[in-house]
Amino acid sequence: MAAVLQSPAQGIDLKGRVSIYQPEQPGLVFPEIPVFDNHAEHRQHLKQRLVAACRAFALQGFDYGFAGHLTIRDPEHPQLYWTNPMAVHFSQVRMSNLILADHEGRVVEGSHAINRAGFVLHAAVHEMHPDILAMCHAHTVYGTAFASLGRGLEPISQDAAAFYEDHVVIGDEAGQVAVEVKAGHKVAHAFKGVKAAIHQNHGLLTASRHSIEAAAFWFIALERCCRQQLLIDASGHKPRLVSPERARYSREHVGSEYIGWLHFQPIWEHLRQTQPDMFD
Ligand SMILES: [Zn+2]
Repeated sequence: MAAVLQSPAQGIDLKGRVSIYQPEQPGLVFPEIPVFDNHAEHRQHLKQRLVAACRAFALQGFDYGFAGHLTIRDPEHPQLYWTNPMAVHFSQVRMSNLILADHEGRVVEGSHAINRAGFVLHAAVHEMHPDILAMCHAHTVYGTAFASLGRGLEPISQDAAAFYEDHVVIGDEAGQVAVEVKAGHKVAHAFKGVKAAIHQNHGLLTASRHSIEAAAFWFIALERCCRQQLLIDASGHKPRLVSPERARYSREHVGSEYIGWLHFQPIWEHLRQTQPDMFD
């Protein structure tokens, strides 16, 4: 019998799980992290979730022409990444048009071209941080607007506290971005130990050491936090912030990789049931 493979998700710290789930009451429906028998099965799973993450971005209106890319490392060949095809709307991404690329942005599987300029960012981060499994980037309305301010998010709510001391602002020189490898290295350096980056004059990036689901959910959350922060700024009022101690506690409990993965599960179920063409 084949050895049971641990999905990357298996090794994850389940921080936050106990506070929202009652293990003492077995038999209730609750999302469980999957385990795989072989690489092929694992790959199929990851590709399906990558497609779902793209579809979720479409639902959120995160498309901007051909901008935006999501990546997940291949389970068998971690130096290669699955990503969405160039110039295909997030809502049209499906199993059969995903592409597999290497660090240089060369397509090694799939028939579509890659957004090489943008892929530089992902490749640099993945190359510098072997622990980062998945990344998301898009040019969203609120994230890009907030990014122009060159400052970080304040802990204005429990949701925003998920990013407390867990995101960085990458300032200056970002305006002409993404094409040069140098810009990629700068972004990669910034991603030490954090799950998100606000790239000044460019947009948002999230990374996960756990899953594409977590990277995608934290991207959705970050865009939402930027929107809320801008609303507060526009109100002219000064918000009461969550204290640093409470913000850290919240981040540990509601800002974990596991919680990001769990937040994505209803999105996955919704898409699985309403958009079966994503499996084509
Ligand atoms: Zn970009």
